[in-house]
Amino acid sequence: MSLWTCGIDGCDARFGDVESAILHQTTEHERHECRVCGAVVPEGYFAIRHAFDEHTRAEYVRAYEADSSAVRERERIKAEIEAKADVERIVARLNEDGDD
Ligand SMILES: [Zn+2]
Ligand SMILES: [Zn+2]
Repeated sequence: MSLWTCGIDGCDARFGDVESAILHQTTEHERHECRVCGAVVPEGYFAIRHAFDEHTRAEYVRAYEADSSAVRERERIKAEIEAKADVERIVARLNEDGDD
């Protein structure tokens, strides 16, 4: 069984399923301020999703001084998570638990 590693700022928390990993990223880490538009989004998967759903790759590369391999790596992570997890269910669960 492959384990999902959080990976934010070197965080090596590991989870048996991707939904737990995303919940951890969203609830245990500081939020991330988008460098393109200034929106504050959860760190980790949701930050990646925001960047690539809301902005173009060119905007991302400019704002984050990323190179194309960094973009490909994030797109790969996003696709892998979306293939394995029911992201909408995670969002619903976060909204239920949300106390802010
Ligand atoms: Zn973590
Ligand atoms: Zn943004």
